[in-house]
Amino acid sequence: MKKLTVVISESPGKDPRKRELEANILAALVGQPDVAVSVVPHLYDLNEDHAGALFLRSVNGPLLVLAWLYPRGIHWTLDRLGVKGRVGQTQLKRASDEDDKNDGGKDDKPRLGAANAPARTIWSLDFQDGDTAEAHVQEIIRVAAQVKAAVKLSAAEAVPVAISSPPIQNLKSKIGNPPARRWYPVIDYSRCANCMECVDFCLFGVYGVDDAGRILVESADNCRKGCPACSRVCPENAIVFPMHRTPALAGAPGTKPGDLKLDLSQLFGAPSALDLADKERDAELVKDGREAVGPPKRQPCCDLRPKDALDKLMDALDGERL
Ligand code: SF4
Ligand code: SF4
Repeated sequence: MKKLTVVISESPGKDPRKRELEANILAALVGQPDVAVSVVPHLYDLNEDHAGALFLRSVNGPLLVLAWLYPRGIHWTLDRLGVKGRVGQTQLKRASDEDDKNDGGKDDKPRLGAANAPARTIWSLDFQDGDTAEAHVQEIIRVAAQVKAAVKLSAAEAVPVAISSPPIQNLKSKIGNPPARRWYPVIDYSRCANCMECVDFCLFGVYGVDDAGRILVESADNCRKGCPACSRVCPENAIVFPMHRTPALAGAPGTKPGDLKLDLSQLFGAPSALDLADKERDAELVKDGREAVGPPKRQPCCDLRPKDALDKLMDALDGERL
């Protein structure tokens, strides 16, 4: 019989309300015939060798992951850990979420797509997409029924689920201990056009290129804590910082970082997204004891910096090509 593997990724903090929601969902899922449920520490903090990551990679069939992250952040964090699959559609959404429109990746430009993704589906659920444990459990049971029958059940056909009360706290058999907190970008390969802007922009060696010439986050832990600068320069809105407090940077549907900053700059004369990115990256360079580099030469007509030796060399080379 086909079972849906459900993995609950714990909150990174100790908020009792979050712990209670996790425990209630877990209690309701244990014993469900079409679901096998496990618990791992906060997904985003796992490194590739953590027992939780090893477990996730061992799951070959349909997988649903529930975490305190936007679904896009969950999916591409999993992809980075080597847990790959097609994006499963879920029906739980925050009331404030707009449709995923004008979000990058919607034109005819070629996109990288996930590398070596098997033909299985991964559903990503954000704990904050539903107010109650019942809402999440109902959605998980709907997906499990879909997996079992390989047909989509309508909401009306879904089976009501009773939630145990009070929550059962000690059912957990968590896989691995909570690791140290981390901060790094993940790439949404469904949007990434492999333009290499991020490699050029980041001066901390976070990005690299694999043997096939695909961009990748090579040295995640080189990323500067709290710095989201490169997500503002990515033209495809493909760089996600799943733990950033700004929804547009954390992978929320409906907005993109450039849109937000552009609107503000038009209204209030605030810096553009690119200016802000340069400033954020330079602040991190200075904190690291290095020199700020200032804005790059993005458009010759707008570049008012005095020319340095490299600029003059490039001009000379350009002249030779002409
Ligand atoms: S800047 Fe964005 S689109 Fe370009 S390679 Fe980096 S992640 Fe991909
Ligand atoms: S956020 Fe800053 S340090 Fe981190 S990858 Fe982007 S540019 Fe590099």
